[in-house]
Amino acid sequence: MTDDRAIPENLVRRAPMPASVSRPVVTPIMPSVVYASECPDELDAQYEGRVKGFTYAREGHPNAEVLASKIDALEGAEGGLIVGSGMAAVSAVLLGCLKAGDHVLGGDQLYGRSLRLMGQDLPRLGISTSLADPTDASAFVRAMRPETRMVLVELVSNPTLRVADIPGIAAVCREHGVILVVDSTFSTPRAFRPFEHGADIVIHSVTKLLAGHSDVTLGYVAARDPAMRKAIYDFAVTTGMTPSPFDCWLAERGLMSFHLRYDRAEENAKALAEHLGGLPGVRRVLYPLRHDHPDHNRAAALLGTRGGNMLSFEVEGGRAGANALTRAMADLPFAPTLGDIGTILSHSASSSHRALSPEARQELGITEGFFRISVGVEDIELLKRDFSAGVAAAKAAAG
Ligand SMILES: *Cc1c(COP(=O)(O)O)cnc(C)c1O
Repeated sequence: MTDDRAIPENLVRRAPMPASVSRPVVTPIMPSVVYASECPDELDAQYEGRVKGFTYAREGHPNAEVLASKIDALEGAEGGLIVGSGMAAVSAVLLGCLKAGDHVLGGDQLYGRSLRLMGQDLPRLGISTSLADPTDASAFVRAMRPETRMVLVELVSNPTLRVADIPGIAAVCREHGVILVVDSTFSTPRAFRPFEHGADIVIHSVTKLLAGHSDVTLGYVAARDPAMRKAIYDFAVTTGMTPSPFDCWLAERGLMSFHLRYDRAEENAKALAEHLGGLPGVRRVLYPLRHDHPDHNRAAALLGTRGGNMLSFEVEGGRAGANALTRAMADLPFAPTLGDIGTILSHSASSSHRALSPEARQELGITEGFFRISVGVEDIELLKRDFSAGVAAAKAAAG
């Protein structure tokens, strides 16, 4: 008996998978860029959708599909698409569905890069844009134009955690025949499912809470209308927004614990908000479910008890106080991201909002003493100790 696979000349031929009646429990990572079909007839059948088969990884691969179907289940969506980043998802929607002459209306506190896409890139391509305050649906009525085709909003804003009137905005969009897109990264489907509140398209930066470990960059987009779904898919494939199979695999692994992580982080965020509110040197605490939050009633109506893991606060002492706080909390990453399994501290004035003038930041309430916390799953007592030390250091620096 000769074994073909043992012949040196055949080393470049891929060996078949070993026979096994049992199956792997864990999704295999499939890095293959191409998929071999039996014959041209079969390839025809694949391309024409009569049989299911992968062809080329840029057009789709098993790890992306497994991940997409899991997030679809969370969102109550169908045919969701995984792309290489959250911004790829935003770009695929705006560029894949709009044309020159259209107008798109955005929330005025969108994610920084979404604002840049709307402010710089879309106008260059002949798509006009404007912004309105999403906590006020009547502002969206006033901002509508005859050529308005799309509205892009986030439910919970960064970093002041204002809560948008999504049902009100959805009603305005319905009345004007405008597509409503919700970037739901901050709230996640654990807290809010935009399709149930009138959204046509839902976007996630999977990079954040869904994958949850700060080790992959990925995005997700789902559209209710199959024609829109196809336009987004075609644009993403043509412009090469392909996600890596390994990243999809990591994100699928991260999703296994999403509900556990989310629930624990949210419980911690509530307790930490309470704790910070009682510390001398803290000027204010922003958390959607707190009674002193400006959108408290809407947060309760839309999120119920799901206040989320994001929380912001302001200390005394300006920049010197802020420097003292991060230095006194060196165990905690001071970094501009969110949704990691561990708590992460960020300072909007020196990161996400650094391009704004001090006056514009002041107007948003983003002072030098303003911090955002992405609360993680640590022991709450440890977090309370860390933040007590940080706030005390800021207060001492304030003199
Ligand atoms: C991070 C983020 C994005 C962009 O996601 P990336 O994966 O970093 O490209 C978009 N929207 C919101 C609300 C985000 O927080």
